[in-house]
Amino acid sequence: MSAQRPYVLVVEDEPAQREVLAYNLEAEGFDVGRAESGDEALLLLEEASPDVIVLDWMLPGVSGIEVCRQVKSRTDTRSIPVIMLSARSEEVDRVRGLETGADDYVIKPYSVIELMARVRSQLRRTRPATVGERLEYEDIILDAETHRVTRQDKLLKLGPTEFRLLSTFMEKPGRVWSREQLLDRVWGRDIYVDTRTVDVHIGRLRKALCQHGGDDPLRTVRGAGYALG
Ligand code: CA
Repeated sequence: MSAQRPYVLVVEDEPAQREVLAYNLEAEGFDVGRAESGDEALLLLEEASPDVIVLDWMLPGVSGIEVCRQVKSRTDTRSIPVIMLSARSEEVDRVRGLETGADDYVIKPYSVIELMARVRSQLRRTRPATVGERLEYEDIILDAETHRVTRQDKLLKLGPTEFRLLSTFMEKPGRVWSREQLLDRVWGRDIYVDTRTVDVHIGRLRKALCQHGGDDPLRTVRGAGYALG
């Protein structure tokens, strides 16, 4: 899994549909996990936390509804957006789907373009910087499209790692990130980097954020990690 790219888990038992979805999501620049059953989906969820789950309703074994129910009942996975896919179009089923906590509901046959738009719309909430959104925190503005960061309208010079660190913080102000979580998100989990490297880049980011003055907005949380604000 590479750093920063959103990770989308596709759970679909029809191989052709699964591949079309995976192909299109990869073409969007996302990392894609594939599961062909509910059981496999639950296993993959133990390994890594997706940014969005695209979940077929009718699956062999554990159904899509049951997977959704489990995702939404666990505190560590509850906030992952789930887009349910279903061939059923009756209103009653739609209601049932939403009752399980699904964030969106798409009826088969769907247009891939439409589904991609729904995925991006969920990512806008969970990973805004990865879909080119403009992030704001107090007097800091980060434009993910142009890779420009300003503070009090003055352009900040940031290295690429510091930019990725800052966009991670700005996606969830107030959240405390451990060094390991920052390594996963900013460097990627496949790369071995010492956790002290995180401290070095946090130091550079702090300096960069204050290059035209202003207070240091980053907070060191003893024994836990770092947070913005
Ligand atoms: Ca199916």
